[in-house]
Amino acid sequence: MRSVYFTDAHEEFRARVRAFLTAHVAPHAAAWERERALPRALWRKLGAEGLLGLAHPRSAGGGERDLFTSVVFLEELGRTGFGGLRAAVSVHAYMATHYLATAGGPELCAAYLAPAVRGEKIAALALTEPGAGADLSRLATTAERDGDRYVVRGTKTMVSNGTAADFQVVAVRTAPPSGSGRRGATGLSLLVIDASLPGVTARPLPTLGWRAAGTATVEYDAVRVPADRLIGRRDSGFYYLMRGLQLERLVAAVLALGGMERTLDDARAAVAGRELFGGTLGALQAPLHRLADLATELAAARQLVHHAAWCLTQGEPPDTACSMAKLHTTELACRIAEANLHLQGARGYLDTSDAARAHRDAQAATLAAGPSEVMRDLIGRSLLRPPYGTPPPQTPQKSS
Ligand SMILES: Cc1cc2nc3c(=O)[nH]c(=O)nc-3n(C[C@H](O)[C@H](O)[C@H](O)COP(=O)(O)OP(=O)(O)OC[C@H]3O[C@@H](n4cnc5c(N)ncnc54)[C@H](O)[C@@H]3O)c2cc1C
Repeated sequence: MRSVYFTDAHEEFRARVRAFLTAHVAPHAAAWERERALPRALWRKLGAEGLLGLAHPRSAGGGERDLFTSVVFLEELGRTGFGGLRAAVSVHAYMATHYLATAGGPELCAAYLAPAVRGEKIAALALTEPGAGADLSRLATTAERDGDRYVVRGTKTMVSNGTAADFQVVAVRTAPPSGSGRRGATGLSLLVIDASLPGVTARPLPTLGWRAAGTATVEYDAVRVPADRLIGRRDSGFYYLMRGLQLERLVAAVLALGGMERTLDDARAAVAGRELFGGTLGALQAPLHRLADLATELAAARQLVHHAAWCLTQGEPPDTACSMAKLHTTELACRIAEANLHLQGARGYLDTSDAARAHRDAQAATLAAGPSEVMRDLIGRSLLRPPYGTPPPQTPQKSS
């Protein structure tokens, strides 16, 4: 049945993206996983196809397409079944460059966003540090002003595209925090740092999943960064991040959705095709009902994700739909991946199987782009807030 969110143009675009990914990604993706890297040629092909700038402004070579065009692309990227590929491409096109597109000045966009849209420069987003993950108020990487430069010192970790990136969008502390908790998030800024600058060192990390994403720890040892590489206003980094993280959660949810569809297809094929005890696995009620339950949950998740995307297109008021979509899809993806691994029998347990890759890739998404617990905190707190638009309580007036 047709979705209310997608037009004929979206479906034509879906067919084009699927054909592109079938021709240029599917035959090579397993090798990229083994090599733990994507080839530069792929980035250029994605750029030439217009797939790295769907949401970005035309002035930077982007397509300025609506959000549901990006949803189509990300669902199809998810359906490839390769978590490393989808993490690498989405961090580049919807996370790191998002801050340039929404807050970067024209010169910064010409120097970094436009080549990223063409696939000539690869981007990474470096927020997490060894001592600061979910709690961004603990970020300790500093950027001290020295004439026309910032001098950056610190370490970022778990940086997707970290080994391949030509530049990183880095959260740095340009002023000391004015307290702890939320107030500790003051004094943050976003800087674009060229990976080729002296003092930048990226070291690959042996992640369990998302192998082609080239995850790295990146050290900044007194790196002298031109001051005009600041994105937006100084000390306003937390504000930009809070806005960007809504999109990041939605992107994670859409990718998980596409991934689940692929994994459930694999499980369905196993249940339909495996012969045993004089019939197929699908003739047995236990696997059939397991499949039916998961397919039902996936159908509900799809509606939640598309609704969350629609909420994001409505702008203000901020709502919790993106957090709910991220929480639900990434956790459901783990359950579907586990069921698939089991239904494939021992073949699924081989390290080289698609089922094993889907299983390890699914785990990463419950941590990256905000762990499940943080999503639960955000959703839970929103339940205790008065509904949007409720007038603030009147302060009792003292009568004379
Ligand atoms: C594969 C992968 C790729 C990643 N890519 C990037 C990237 O490109 N750029 C980047 O900057 N970061 C990236 N990350 C890092 C990711 O954003 C962090 O892992 C995440 O923010 C959690 O931080 P942490 O790992 O330091 O865990 P911590 O924040 O130390 O959390 C430890 C544990 O506590 C739980 N926890 C956290 N907060 C709460 C809470 N409020 N209540 C209860 N429990 C809580 C967590 O769920 C976790 O189980 C990536 C992570 C992974 C796994």
